[in-house]
Amino acid sequence: VNLSTLSSRLAAKFRTRFAPSPTGFLHLGHVVSAMYVWGIARALNGTVLLRIEDHDRERSRAEYETALLEDLDWLGFVPDVDDSGASCVRQSERAAVYERAVEGLRASGLVYACRCSRREIERASEPGESERRYPGTCRMAGLQDGPGRGLRVRMDAGVEEFEDGLMGLQRQDPSAQCGDVLIRDRVGQWTYQLAATADDIAQGIDLVVRGEDLLASTGRQIRVMRLLGRQAPPVYVHHPLVYGAPGVKLSKANRDVGVRELRAAGLARADVLGLAAARAGILRAPRPLRVDELAGVLEASGRTGE
Ligand SMILES: [Zn+2]
Repeated sequence: VNLSTLSSRLAAKFRTRFAPSPTGFLHLGHVVSAMYVWGIARALNGTVLLRIEDHDRERSRAEYETALLEDLDWLGFVPDVDDSGASCVRQSERAAVYERAVEGLRASGLVYACRCSRREIERASEPGESERRYPGTCRMAGLQDGPGRGLRVRMDAGVEEFEDGLMGLQRQDPSAQCGDVLIRDRVGQWTYQLAATADDIAQGIDLVVRGEDLLASTGRQIRVMRLLGRQAPPVYVHHPLVYGAPGVKLSKANRDVGVRELRAAGLARADVLGLAAARAGILRAPRPLRVDELAGVLEASGRTGE
């Protein structure tokens, strides 16, 4: 990652966030993400906020949250505090923020109720589509919002363009990729697309760092952000995932090597950081890595690799 280019695109005092879901233990994929978040923020004088993305109430567990925070601390990734002095927010406590965001969308007539199940949408998708596209079945149906109904926001045709800090220029048309975005599911839970976007606006996030597996959903988040009233999107950095050999994605079991297990096996934190960096291609081979070396290593990995 080119720190001077990133720096020129960010304000002198910018904010970024680390936003894990407490649906499991901290694994090497998280560690890579944290390395980019803290590495860039510490090098460029940014603030790191912590957000627990527990919008999915079925899968989130308090014990996972406790363990995530403890492992992060052990690794030396310490969050800063926001304007109110808090170092961590939880999506499960922010329903009022999401309600308010959606009120604005409703007022502009962009939101409608949807009764379609996942299976129905699957059946209506065109064969060969890279992801399931909602075909707009309920758009004109004028359904009442209520129990068993989801909420969608209209995605009109149009391209969202952004310059990713690692992946370069991206152009995405959400109306062609996914169609109208689900913002509240049929169970009544706010979706990731809505909650993460509303939080990025409310917390004034300038830099979003996340795995390259989420690259395809960034255009729709930028669009939702614009509809919610923020015109200038954050700077995005989509980082490499954890791989085995170059280009070979490890099995899920391998990829999700837990920090707990590595600690229990006697690895020091510098060993865990070095292992994660090597698995993501940031280092050519594992070696002990200190948190204060991260910026230099990330910068070098964008050019020649170490
Ligand atoms: Zn529908």
